[in-house]
Amino acid sequence: MRTSSIIRLTIAFLLLGGIWVAYTQMGTTPAKLDTIKVKDDLFVIHNNIVPGNSTVLVTNEGVILVDDKFEVDHDGIMAQLKKITDQPIKYVINTHHHADHSGGNAKMQAMNVQIIASEQARQNMVDGKQPGLPNIAIERHAHVYLGGKNAELYYFGRAHTNGDIFIYVPADRVLITGDTFTFGKETPILIDYAGGGSVKEWTSTLDAALKLDFDTVVPGHGTVTTKAELAKFRAGTVTLRNRIHDLVGQKKSHDEIGKLMQTEFNWGPLQMMMSLDGAMAELR
Ligand SMILES: [Zn+2]
Repeated sequence: MRTSSIIRLTIAFLLLGGIWVAYTQMGTTPAKLDTIKVKDDLFVIHNNIVPGNSTVLVTNEGVILVDDKFEVDHDGIMAQLKKITDQPIKYVINTHHHADHSGGNAKMQAMNVQIIASEQARQNMVDGKQPGLPNIAIERHAHVYLGGKNAELYYFGRAHTNGDIFIYVPADRVLITGDTFTFGKETPILIDYAGGGSVKEWTSTLDAALKLDFDTVVPGHGTVTTKAELAKFRAGTVTLRNRIHDLVGQKKSHDEIGKLMQTEFNWGPLQMMMSLDGAMAELR
């Protein structure tokens, strides 16, 4: 390896360490939370950008909660929940393994809550030595029945990670997307290649989700929105993928493509470190 590449690699690792510190530090102070009523029995515990949204499905036999934010947000979630219902949480579903969606798992399990995730997301948590490993893992599809209600879980393939699941509540015509969709961004915010993500497969994963019958969408981050916005975002995944594919085909360098990603798609340091090499290798 040439000295310049070694230096570049060293800087990359230093930067990566710094970014991860910054990223994990986001979970050191509780986020300011509020609750949005989406349907009579479905609420979103929302906050500004980070951590991820939490969705509450209330039944007369307990609550199904999708995503439990960072560990530090646990008390905040419980306080918001108290405003909605006296029912205890029975199940937490993690849309994927990232700590801003699954960080509260251990505290939930201490309250006798069962955690559900995809097998791939669970494996990522094992690999990352994350606390609060899911008790139940699904491969492709599952139903969670509670108090006469039904939440459907689907794994449609890789996108933001290799373990993203969609949660569909047919009676409410609501789809919860995790970070396969972040409202307010036109294209994927982060392709986590270390976590098995794929910009190439992202579009087909969303295509499968869009076949479901729903009209309201709870994104991984951002405000509750519509199926039409999800379809628009799906088009953005194609734009991003095609652009990188074309640039790689034109034999543009790593740095040139990185610069264009920053100006055209608003990529920051996190995307540069976690998404650029993987996307270039995948679309070569
Ligand atoms: Zn994520």
